[in-house]
Amino acid sequence: MNAEVEALLRDAAQRAIAYVGAVRDRPVAVSAEALQGLEAFRHPLPETGVDAREVLRLLDESGSPATVATAGGRFFGLVVGGALPATVAANWLATAWDQNACFRHTSPVAATLEDVSLQWMARMFGLPADVGGAFVTGASMANFAALAAARHALLSRLGWDVEAQGLYGAPEIRVIVSEETHVTVGKALALLGLGRQRVTVVPTDRHGRMQVSRLPALDDRTIVCIQAGNVNTGAFDPADEVCRMARQAGAWVHVDGAFGLWALASDKFDTRTQGIALADSWATDGHKWLNVPYDSGIVLVRDAAALRAAMSLNAAYLAQDGAEQREPSHYTPESSRRARGVEIWAALLHLGRQGVAGLVERTCGYARVFAQGLQAAGFEVLNEVALNQVLVSFGSPAVTAAVIERLQEEGICWCGGTVWQGRTAMRISVSSWATTEADVQASLQAMVRAAKKTVDGRTY
Ligand SMILES: *Cc1c(COP(=O)(O)O)cnc(C)c1O
Repeated sequence: MNAEVEALLRDAAQRAIAYVGAVRDRPVAVSAEALQGLEAFRHPLPETGVDAREVLRLLDESGSPATVATAGGRFFGLVVGGALPATVAANWLATAWDQNACFRHTSPVAATLEDVSLQWMARMFGLPADVGGAFVTGASMANFAALAAARHALLSRLGWDVEAQGLYGAPEIRVIVSEETHVTVGKALALLGLGRQRVTVVPTDRHGRMQVSRLPALDDRTIVCIQAGNVNTGAFDPADEVCRMARQAGAWVHVDGAFGLWALASDKFDTRTQGIALADSWATDGHKWLNVPYDSGIVLVRDAAALRAAMSLNAAYLAQDGAEQREPSHYTPESSRRARGVEIWAALLHLGRQGVAGLVERTCGYARVFAQGLQAAGFEVLNEVALNQVLVSFGSPAVTAAVIERLQEEGICWCGGTVWQGRTAMRISVSSWATTEADVQASLQAMVRAAKKTVDGRTY
C-alpha cells in the first residue's frame, strides 16, 4: 500500500481511539467554546483540494469537541444507545470494504451477513424462520417498509395492484393507530398515501397502552398499528389480544418496536411481550438498544412475498431472484446502500442471545435505580418504570424545564424533556451498553443536585 494512505488510516484510527478513550469522562453536552470552534468549517469551497491528513486533522480538532457524547455512558436522551466496540470495529473494516449492499453480486458478504442476522433475529424474537426482512436506515424507514408491505397485501387481496396503479381509484383500506402512536408511523402513512390523519385513533390508558376495549370491529381491509415500547413510558400495547382479534378478522397488525422489540430476547418481560410474535410485521432499530452505529433499522414481515412485492425495483428484477437466495434489493426502499447488516451481525455474534438479554435487563435495572433515587429525593416519577424509561417531574413545568437546562449545561449527563399526558417531565432513557453503575450514581446525584438548586436556589 501507498505509505501516505497507510499513514492516513493509522492517523484516523489513532484519533478515533483517543476520542473513544476520552468520551466517557468529558461533559456530555457540547461547550460554547466547541460550538464556536465549528466556525472553522465555514469557509468557501477551496478551488484546490486539501491534503487528506489535513482534512482529518481539521475534522478531529474542530469536529470532535462539538460532538454530543452519545458514545459515553451518560447520555440518556432519545432512547438511543452507543455503538458497541465490536460494531465500531466491524464498521471500520466494512467501510474500508466499501461494499454496495444493493445486490448479492455487488457484495456477497453483505448479503450473507444479512441472511444470517435475519435468521438469528427471527429466532431470538420468536418469529417464523422464513420471515422477510431488510436493513434500512432506522425505525422510520422500517415502519414505512412494513406498512408498504401491509398496503400491498391488503389491496392485492382486493384485486388491486397498488404498486402499478397507485391509490387512485383503489378500494379503501382503514388504518388504526393509538393516541400514543409514534410520529414516524404517521409520517410513514403520509408517505404511503394512506394519510397521517385518515386514521382511526384508539384511546390509551394512563401508561400509554392502547385500550383494546375501544378498538373498533376489525376486518380484512384494516391495518392495526401497535407499539412495543412507548417512547415516553416504555409501555407495550396489548399485542396478544390485538393480534388474536386481528387474526380472526384477517386484519394486518404492524408492531413499531423501535427499541422495545429487543426485550423479546429476555424472558423477564414475557407478560408484556406476549403475542408480539403473532403480528404480521415489525419495525425495530439497531442503533437503539442493540447499540450499533447509525444508521441502522430493521424491518421484518411475516409474509416475505408482500415485502418483496412492495419493494422490488421492478418486475424484471424479480426474475433474477434465485429460488434459494434472497436478493437484498428486492426488500429495501433503497437501491444502493451501505452494508449496515455487518454491524448487526457483529453485535449479535459478540453478545449472543444472552448478551442481548443481559444488556436489556441491565439497562432496565438502571432505570429502576434512577426512579427509586429520584423518588427517595422527593421527586415525582410519572410512569410505571417497567422498562428502560423514566419520567420525572421536579415541580411546575418551568421548574422541570429549568432543571433539565441546568443538568445539560453542567454536562455530567444528558436528558431531554417531554410532555406526558399534559405534564412536563424530564425523560431518562437508559439504552447504552456503556452505562455503568457508577455512571448511574453520578448522574443521579447530578439530577438531584440540579433539581434542589433549581427548586430552592441553594447550592448542595
Ligand atoms: C425512535 C423511534 C422511532 C423512529 O426511529 P428512527 O430510528 O429515529 O427512525 C419509531 N418508533 C419508536 C417507538 C421509537 O422509539
